[in-house]
Amino acid sequence: MPSSSAENPASREAPSLKFDADLFVIGGGSGGIRAARVAASHGARVMLAEESRLGGTCVIRGCVPKKLFVYASRFGDALDEAADFGWKISPPSFEWPSLVAAKDKEIARLEGLYAQGQSKAGVEVVHSRAMLEDAHTVRLADGRSVRARIILIATGAKPELPPFEGMELGITSDTAFDLKVLPRRLVIGGAGYIAVEFAGLFAALGSDVTIVCRGSNVLRGFDEDVRQAIAASYTNRGIKILLGDSIKRLASGKVDGDGQKPATIDVVTEQGARLKADQVLLAFGRTPNTIGLGLDRVGVKTDEKGAIIVDANSRTSVPSIFAVGDVSNQVNLTPVAIREGHAFADSVFGGKPWQVDYANVPTAVFSSPEIGTVGLTELEARAEYAVVDVYKARVRPLAAGVTRDCEIALLKLVVDGESDRILGVHLFAEDASELIQVLSIALESGATRADFMSTMAVHPTFAEELLAMQ
Ligand code: FAD
Ligand code: NDP
Repeated sequence: MPSSSAENPASREAPSLKFDADLFVIGGGSGGIRAARVAASHGARVMLAEESRLGGTCVIRGCVPKKLFVYASRFGDALDEAADFGWKISPPSFEWPSLVAAKDKEIARLEGLYAQGQSKAGVEVVHSRAMLEDAHTVRLADGRSVRARIILIATGAKPELPPFEGMELGITSDTAFDLKVLPRRLVIGGAGYIAVEFAGLFAALGSDVTIVCRGSNVLRGFDEDVRQAIAASYTNRGIKILLGDSIKRLASGKVDGDGQKPATIDVVTEQGARLKADQVLLAFGRTPNTIGLGLDRVGVKTDEKGAIIVDANSRTSVPSIFAVGDVSNQVNLTPVAIREGHAFADSVFGGKPWQVDYANVPTAVFSSPEIGTVGLTELEARAEYAVVDVYKARVRPLAAGVTRDCEIALLKLVVDGESDRILGVHLFAEDASELIQVLSIALESGATRADFMSTMAVHPTFAEELLAMQ
């Protein structure tokens, strides 16, 4: 990793008893937890405040529950396909409350592990909301003040809610995993990561899903071929996508039956569509958790979205205050928050300064099949490089010969035509998230297409096509 020329305020100041802690971390999510543990391992006296549950968005209401629900959603297809391979299965049925309970149990277990990890590392965890009082002081909800030499803000983000009439009738990803019943009809506003992942998993579990997308296709920013592939696949699976439209108004509709069930929600879109839904998921992006933190009072600068402005060393405009993760709105993914927290702790407390490299961050969308992507899209590459070569393969997985599944995998390489270096890899395929993790090593190591071509294939796989595309 490139080394940093960051000044190290922690090492410049002599240890002093005027501080209650060397480091106070606000927020016990992906970034905060890693920073606290690593700083403690470097000998720092660390305190961490978490106002909700240890683990943060990823563990409690994000990546982890999402992936568990995605696993659950795939069994329906797998059971159908099993029959094609000779399995006799009596009509299967699915119970939503059992899935929610299984998820709750696993999340509680993970939360416990995080608490143990912090305590083992010697981090003092305070279950409280915290805010800044001055450049070295944190105020807890009970009025107690804690003085720390360094403060790290790792408060993450929360769902963005564009103000339209009836918005309060909608749910967000924060509560979608805890619904009492599986919605029969789900309308989703927004067409990014959350919309696409939730649409896929709810549809596979049995909901009738409509995505309302203001753009020309879902997943703006992803490679065009991948966007088209997933939109076609979802449409094939019966997921409706309203393009060039957005939600205008929600209204409480009729109460079904005996009045015990929640009312239907009437959805009106800007283009005049009228939909009926049992739940409406609002997935319009996320906004940094900075309100009420006392940033203005202390002089921590934010941008127009409320995100904390940081330099390459995660330092804010106040030298003793740093920020990592979604609250600084750089690349809002768990591994990035973790790495920022780690780099901060090594640099400020470990005497080993380094900075996070944001080039080639791989990412996946956990649809079924999945999207895996790393590096430049074709459009980005064409804007930056003089000669761009593109290699694409559309592959029918071997099992589809038996199951007659019509899903086609898409593999795409974007290559610098002059140097032969791979600039981007884009996949829409089963296990694309796993594949892209490995392919990102090739990209990071500067692999060329010739390197791919000279690599021996594994057969029979669909990934072998990556080595043979002409
Ligand atoms: P968080 O994990 O959000 O942690 C912030 C913590 O601070 C929270 O626990 C909060 O309660 C606490 N807090 C806030 N304010 C205060 C305060 N004043 N005092 C005390 N505590 C406070 N990323 C991936 O890489 N892969 C995925 O598959 C993925 N799936 C996702 C699915 C969903 C539905 C969502 C919403 C996000 C997903 N993400 C995923 C993104 C990922 O969860 C975030 O990028 C990551 O959690 C950011 O970590 P963080 O430490 O910045 O913040
Ligand atoms: P995204 O930024 O991915 O998508 C937001 C969507 O909402 C876009 O389609 C956007 O449209 C649309 N939108 C925003 N404002 C409006 C509006 N006023 N009216 C209509 N549509 C609007 O956010 P998500 O909420 O889906 O996810 C938040 C973040 O969490 C992600 O960006 C990602 O960083 C992280 N995440 C990561 C996951 C993963 O790694 N697998 C999974 C889930 C979340 P447009 O494109 O036109 O701007």
